[in-house]
Amino acid sequence: MKVLTAVKRVVDYNVKVRVKADQSGVDIGNVKMSMNPFDEIATEAATRLKEAGKASEVVAVSCGVPQSQETLRTALAIGADRGVLVETDAELQPLAVAKLLKAVIDREQPQLVILGKQAIDDDAGQTGQLLAALLDWPQATFASDIEIGDGSATGSATGSGTITREVDGGLEVITIRLPAIVTTDLRLNEPRYVTLPNIMKAKKKPIDVLKPADLGVDPSPRLKTLKVVEPAARKAGVIVPDVATLLQKLKSEAKVI
Ligand code: AMP
Repeated sequence: MKVLTAVKRVVDYNVKVRVKADQSGVDIGNVKMSMNPFDEIATEAATRLKEAGKASEVVAVSCGVPQSQETLRTALAIGADRGVLVETDAELQPLAVAKLLKAVIDREQPQLVILGKQAIDDDAGQTGQLLAALLDWPQATFASDIEIGDGSATGSATGSGTITREVDGGLEVITIRLPAIVTTDLRLNEPRYVTLPNIMKAKKKPIDVLKPADLGVDPSPRLKTLKVVEPAARKAGVIVPDVATLLQKLKSEAKVI
């Protein structure tokens, strides 16, 4: 079974982003960029499937600027076998990414595609779902456990999977036919620490570079950003002397009790 993971280069989660003065977006000049955390989880999940003998090959795909090669190298250091970069400087929105991924999937023919549930820069949470619709494949979103069929209740060797999904107030367990799309939730796994020997090994693994035109996809944006603004600053808190004053303020000022 071939597994494909989608990995996005995003502003590192530790960076406090600043909105550009012209409100056209967020300033990403000179800030640390990393792999989207949910995509690390996706790559870890795919690598574990390979280590468990369920997957034969793991291919990581990234769409974006040439520096996304660094993101792919991280995926290769986690355990992916090879990378595919769809290189473009164009602003990529989820629909464009889904179309590009579909074109790569048409070439690669994986049985399982694992994406993050959301990219922490645009917070769109759309790409996996759009991709499943474009491919007309089953999807299991917000996965916290992935079991690939081994001839037990879930079906034939690679024919199906049992996915545990994080839903409001609990967990939902579903079976899906493969090929399928899975998106990762935070509790699926804890990605391994990338070691220096694995970083060195990753340098030797191949990365194919394609352009959107090679895949016959026009990635131009379909949505226009009107403006991006900072969240409203929070008002300073007050320290109350005792519980009685707190209760009185909650009653008469905040009016919450
Ligand atoms: P989003 O719909 O933008 O929140 O992203 C959801 C998931 O889609 C991410 O966690 C990635 O797995 C995948 N994805 C989004 N954008 C890209 C990209 N430019 N390259 C590769 N994968 C992406």
